[in-house]
Amino acid sequence: MSSIQTVGIIGAGTMGNGIAQACAVSGIRVVMVDVAQTAVDKGLATVAGSLDRLIKKEKLTAEGKAAALALIKGSTSYDDLKGAQLVIEAATENEGLKVKILQQLDGILASEVIVATNTSSISITKLAAATKRADKFIGMHFFNPVPMMALVEIIRGLQTSDATHDAVKALAEALGKTPITVKNAPGFVVNRILVPMINEAFFVLAEGIATPEDIDAGMKLGTNQPIGPLALADMIGLDVCLAVMNVYMAEFNDSKYRPAPLLKEMVAAGWLGRKTGRGVYTY
Ligand code: NAD
Repeated sequence: MSSIQTVGIIGAGTMGNGIAQACAVSGIRVVMVDVAQTAVDKGLATVAGSLDRLIKKEKLTAEGKAAALALIKGSTSYDDLKGAQLVIEAATENEGLKVKILQQLDGILASEVIVATNTSSISITKLAAATKRADKFIGMHFFNPVPMMALVEIIRGLQTSDATHDAVKALAEALGKTPITVKNAPGFVVNRILVPMINEAFFVLAEGIATPEDIDAGMKLGTNQPIGPLALADMIGLDVCLAVMNVYMAEFNDSKYRPAPLLKEMVAAGWLGRKTGRGVYTY
């Protein structure tokens, strides 16, 4: 059983509004804060649209939608976070910005409130050290789209207490998610394994071992993944994949993380994947 009844969320973007939806459909009250009213309104509209799609698929009733939306309060004021037992930071991925937000939260929230971050790449231990509640700070790494994806990586910083870990794990379970517990390290578990696999696919492609279509078909059918690594790179963005490899290379100082030259070359060409209309494939 989770003792958390009200969750504050910082950021109403892709992840923030997805987390808000997951909480609200599980009966948990949400205060979702963003910097501008337009961003808050967009986040709330995204949740409403997503709930409508669930109604169409007969996974939710109109009453269920109304009840969920009634549990989400959008706001541009951090003061409205008072009363939350947990605040999840899901703002833009920028270390300086996140440190500023965490320090702002320290000034507003009672000392017993747990603060979690949804960061994909910043050290939980380092962010914890920037707060006045390092033992009550933790990573809660949701996956996109949050309402659909079952996994939550729960990342313990060096300072995180057992009580904080247990409370956040119970909440993830109350949301119907499957949490895994992870020690703080670059890429946590999933991206640590996934992105080097994608990088290796670029080596295989560059060596002319198989066509892109055959590499993707091989990995889909041979390892039961829903999408091949090259098509996935196009979805994630080749620039994002390269940036992640560069972080691993710098953090681990191990040549096994060297970015594939073909990946670097395609990024240099501006072939970043779906978002630019061309990556490994053309869209
Ligand atoms: P996004 O750009 O969609 O949303 C970020 C939101 O944060 C924006 O609406 C922005 O206005 C808001 N924001 C910026 N500064 C703020 C502040 N001071 N106070 C309140 N709100 C502020 O980004 P996203 O994709 O939702 O990513 C959010 C976090 O989740 C990042 O740390 C990212 O690494 C992580 N993440 C993203 C994904 C993904 O697939 N998109 C997956 C897992 C984790």
